[in-house]
Amino acid sequence: MTPEEVLKLAKESGVKIVDFKFSDLPGTWQHFSVPVHVLSEDLFSEGLPFDGSSVRGFQAINESDMLVIPDADTAFLDPFTAVPTLSLTCDIAHPGATGSQKPYSRDPRYIAKKAEDYLRSTGIADTAYFGPEAEFYIFDNVRYSSADNIQYAEVDSDEAHWNSKGRDDARNMGHLMNIKGGYFPVAPNDTYQDLRSEMVVNLEALGIQVEAHHHEVGAAGQCEIDYKFGTLLDTADKLLLFKYVIKNTARKYGKSVTFMPKPIYGDNGSGMHTHQSLWKGGKPLFFEEGGYANLSQLARYYIGGVLTHAPSILAIAASSTNSYKRLVPGFEAPVNLVFSQGNRSAAIRIPRTESPKATRVEFRPPDPTANPYLLFSALLMAGLDGIRNEIDPGQYGYGPVDKDLYSMSKAELSEISSVPGSLDESLKALENDHAFLLEGGVFTTDVLEKYVDLKREQADQVRLRPAPIEFSMYYDA
Ligand code: GLN
Ligand code: MG
Ligand code: MG
Ligand code: MG
Repeated sequence: MTPEEVLKLAKESGVKIVDFKFSDLPGTWQHFSVPVHVLSEDLFSEGLPFDGSSVRGFQAINESDMLVIPDADTAFLDPFTAVPTLSLTCDIAHPGATGSQKPYSRDPRYIAKKAEDYLRSTGIADTAYFGPEAEFYIFDNVRYSSADNIQYAEVDSDEAHWNSKGRDDARNMGHLMNIKGGYFPVAPNDTYQDLRSEMVVNLEALGIQVEAHHHEVGAAGQCEIDYKFGTLLDTADKLLLFKYVIKNTARKYGKSVTFMPKPIYGDNGSGMHTHQSLWKGGKPLFFEEGGYANLSQLARYYIGGVLTHAPSILAIAASSTNSYKRLVPGFEAPVNLVFSQGNRSAAIRIPRTESPKATRVEFRPPDPTANPYLLFSALLMAGLDGIRNEIDPGQYGYGPVDKDLYSMSKAELSEISSVPGSLDESLKALENDHAFLLEGGVFTTDVLEKYVDLKREQADQVRLRPAPIEFSMYYDA
């Protein structure tokens, strides 16, 4: 869409409000609105001022004058507002004369754009495709006490009541789906068919092409909706829109959705496996008949780059303290840093396909708390680093391994490296290994330092609080 077309759309649809959205550093949409008369074609080049001081990861209070510069291509009519509202996703910039506003180095969208430019500048490929599979749980509600006193949120669902002790039969005498039993019996076990279908209809109406929707393994309402892969920036933009649509569709029915990676102890967590491939001149670069999983040498180097830098990437891919409660054996989440065809316990799976176009690398450690702009950019940078330095995964002990990694002996496993065990470990890895992210100025030291600060504060918040399980382990000590 051009700015002119956006104005036309606003007029023809009786839009009253224009909403500007952008991603903060952790990857959550922030927004503010103006009456429609403020919208003009010039706004798309001049931008609109806002105060960037209280946005997570953005500016200090003394340099807080920022601009949003809307991207006309992202315009949509918001189906969830009562007042007709046009939504625009924005870049962030420092104020300046028209045309010379400086893009903001901590704007995740800017980092994604730089990553795409950098890819083209290497001549290795011109396009990187990404396809995230974001899983989530639907609950009736999640109750919080006042923000400072959260010990844990008790989880309540109409399919089952669970807590850290298991089933609470006093509260639900009906039949309950078994733990890990959600994948995927029909209704009445699956109570969310219609809700997911409505989510899909809403997504497609907003230009997100859906491939499939289904209940996931988690019994208490875990679901998955997959949308079609696309280019880096576009797919990251779509992920934030995706979450918005999923959460707001659920809300219409008094439900709440969480993308947190491990809401329920003892059942499957929610991942965001990320499929990737490189293309040049319209041709896929990851396929070559004959080798392991029909992978080209270039694809193997890409995998080598991703696996060598995986501990550092996990600071972005598994970006919450909760992420590491998912990355444990037994729940289809990856634990080992190897690649494999078909093996779902490996960090990288190569889905079986004979099609050159469909040949791709699935990186499984990410979860939906990741900022998609930073995640896709970091993965691309790691893959390119592997290609540049010819890091063959076979030579570095990264497989391929086709055995079930969950059932390997201690001795066998000692040969294989595993994912970091905590957010703190990943943050340390990122501090020690980030030169590959700085190539071509894609990431800056400033944004990485800010990111680590922000995440370390979160880790401290968790570390400082007694956890419920500590009472049963130590109360009577
Ligand atoms: N929920 C699993 C994870 O945490 C994935 C399950 C699946 O899609 N096979 O990664
Ligand atoms: Mg899937
Ligand atoms: Mg899944
Ligand atoms: Mg998958």
